[in-house]
Amino acid sequence: MPSEVAKTWHHALPDMEVMKRRVEHLEKTNQWHSYAMDVLGSMTAIFGDNQRNRDTQSILRNAHECLNRIISFDEAGFYTVDDESSFDLSYAQPDGTEAGIDAEVEVFIRNGMFAWAINQNHPVCLPSRDRQSTIILHVISTRSRIRGMFAGRLSEEQAGTTEAALKLLSIVLFNTAYALESAALYSLMDQQQRTLKKITERQSEELVHQYSHDLLTNLPNRVLFVDRLEQLIARRSARDTNLAVILLDLDNFKRVNDSLGHRAGDLLIKLLGTELHRTFLTEEISRRFDLEPASITLSRLGGDEFGLILDGVESLDLVVRAVQHLIGIISREHDVEGHQVFLTCSVGISVFPYDGENADTLIKNADAAMYDAKQRGRNSFRFYTREINSQTYRQLILENDLVKALARNEFEVYYQPQVELDTGRVIGAEALLRWRHPEKGIQPPANFIAIAEETGLIEGLGLWVLQEVCADLSRLGRDGAETPRISINLSARQFRQSNLVEQYRAVIQETGTDPGRLELELTESTIMKDIDIAVGMFQQLHSLGVRLAIDDFGTGYSSLNNLKHFPIDTLKVDRSFVCDIPDDKDDAAIVTAIVAMAKSLHLEVVAEGVETREQLEFLRRLGCEIVQGYFYSEPLPFEQFRTLLNGWTATA
Ligand code: C2E
Ligand code: MG
Ligand code: MG
Repeated sequence: MPSEVAKTWHHALPDMEVMKRRVEHLEKTNQWHSYAMDVLGSMTAIFGDNQRNRDTQSILRNAHECLNRIISFDEAGFYTVDDESSFDLSYAQPDGTEAGIDAEVEVFIRNGMFAWAINQNHPVCLPSRDRQSTIILHVISTRSRIRGMFAGRLSEEQAGTTEAALKLLSIVLFNTAYALESAALYSLMDQQQRTLKKITERQSEELVHQYSHDLLTNLPNRVLFVDRLEQLIARRSARDTNLAVILLDLDNFKRVNDSLGHRAGDLLIKLLGTELHRTFLTEEISRRFDLEPASITLSRLGGDEFGLILDGVESLDLVVRAVQHLIGIISREHDVEGHQVFLTCSVGISVFPYDGENADTLIKNADAAMYDAKQRGRNSFRFYTREINSQTYRQLILENDLVKALARNEFEVYYQPQVELDTGRVIGAEALLRWRHPEKGIQPPANFIAIAEETGLIEGLGLWVLQEVCADLSRLGRDGAETPRISINLSARQFRQSNLVEQYRAVIQETGTDPGRLELELTESTIMKDIDIAVGMFQQLHSLGVRLAIDDFGTGYSSLNNLKHFPIDTLKVDRSFVCDIPDDKDDAAIVTAIVAMAKSLHLEVVAEGVETREQLEFLRRLGCEIVQGYFYSEPLPFEQFRTLLNGWTATA
């Protein structure tokens, strides 16, 4: 068996060598593997994990670190492609290699090797200029896009780098390309997000502006006005100065809209907005009134209403001067598309803290004061007082009730007989409106006509009176007796109503009323307000065939000469002159003159408010034909008036 043993040994020796080499090889491979794992592990760093290490510089630095684990380059440079497809050296190690890697690459660019390397998917090894080292060029590209070029210098000793190492180099640079690509995507997304954010911010700013500003004038609207006021009140520490809330409302602005159209109305509001803005926010007004521009808030509150907050005013006198200035700007002639429009306005003022401790109360009270200024004849201002509040509150309640009253059928027409002195006959009556208020009982016109006039309700109400009177006249006609003539009062607002004549004509025709049985009364002051318009209006009304009377005569300032121009039938002597005759010599003289003048103009005279026999006798002596007053009868509900008429006729 020795030969067997020898044989075994003979074979065993070379096997040992093989084994040894094999072990060495395995060790090497193992080493290589752990080294490769190390490289691959460090490769994930290239991609970065947050915003900051995702920029080109950190990607390239990480890529370089990773490469260094594979092959230690003496020098390395990373070129990236910019938008114009030119290659720039973005990262180099060591830095500042003027005569280094960049100079080598310059040569390759010139001799076309660089361009050639771009199209290779593997490393291209080239001799350096001095042929002492090797330059490796390797494109950095994804499957679809070239992102750059890597250039590295290998010393003589490193030149024999293994193929495996070069393969790893390719893998690392391939990943670098993807990292660059995703970084570019990220930055694009970032940029888009920033743009999007900017757009949304701008849009939301615009929305806030729209929500808080008036579209027409671009002034702050009510929302911002109230908000500003609340903020000012909350911030107030110095109690030695005042804060004034000023509300301004144009008088009769509706008329501008009605006559010139809404477009012109809008234009005028815009004009006023600009004017007010210029005066209060840019002119020397703040200097003039010693106010910080920041302490003035101007706003369009809606419709024809503007608001002004003055903060930190030293004295109420200053508020008054500012308000007078404000009124001065509005109350004058304005040019709207060639039309001259004369405006007036009413202003209400409330002062913090006296007239309210919060925005709501201050605005409510300034509003009440403004309403009061309007009631008192417009084109003026009023400071808020407690009395105003209770009064305006009552007015508001009344206004509310009044709106519903017509629909609820709460109105009634009373008739006050007019008696012919010669014959003692009831020849007619004045229709006088009464309101049967559900709680307060019968209300005389003095309690509601002014508000009906102010709110415009009078137009509908007046028409209703006419319809009612016409219906009553036809009832009386059916009674068989001679129908009396009925006087109807026309208010100033109705007198200006553009469709009044058509409306009246329609009712008279529809009800088949004899227009000669109707008389329309207009007060002297209504006529005298605008005599030119009045002449035309009288002519139109006259064309309806109705009689026309001047009511409350003697209280206005009409010259008798003027009367000649009007187609008038009747003069009604005001009760205030009648009540003191015959004792008051002045009144007696006035009534005497009025009756004489009326006779010379061939007008009929009706004396109002006759209460006593003395008054009656005095009037009879003057030759006054008709009287109306408590002496004969108070205003009566229709049925009573009807009974009276029929009884009278029966006994006549
Ligand atoms: P007016 O047109 O001057 O009416 C005469 C007023 O004097 C009536 O008051 C009447 O009741 C009152 N009166 C008549 N005789 C006497 C008297 O002997 N002594 C006293 N102290 N008063 C007398 P009334 O009904 O309260 O109406 C007041 C005013 O309301 C009217 O004054 C008229 O201007 C207005 N009015 C009444 N009805 C209407 C209407 O339907 N439309 C319009 N627009 N105004 C009306
Ligand atoms: Mg009257
Ligand atoms: Mg009268």
